[in-house]
This record gives sequence, C-alpha cells and structure tokens, in this order.
Amino acid sequence: MNKNFGMPDNAVRSYKCARCGNMFEAEPKVASTCPICGYSCSDNLCNEVDSSDEGY
Ligand SMILES: [Zn+2]
Repeated sequence: MNKNFGMPDNAVRSYKCARCGNMFEAEPKVASTCPICGYSCSDNLCNEVDSSDEGY
C-alpha cells in the first residue's frame, strides 16, 4: 500500500485574459497577472477554461 498524499489532482487551470484574450496557466486561489498585457486576472475577471476536457 503506497499512499501518496503529497500529490493532489493534476489540475492546472487556464485563464483567459479578459483584456487581450491571452490564455495562460495559473494556480487557483492566486491572483494572476496576464504575461502579455499585465492585466490583473482573478476568478471574477478572467474566464477559467479547462485545458483537459475529461468527464471525471
Ligand atoms: Zn492579457
């Protein structure tokens, strides 16, 4: 029995910048900044898109 609690789901969320439409990966619960235009993205401002469409 090998229990690995240090590895959560491999969930990398991609955000779509509301200003320039650039898609970049960012960790959840962290206010991310668009690397292209420097727009301050958050859950409310930028759309979150799923890179992997798996019905889990
Ligand atoms: Zn942007």
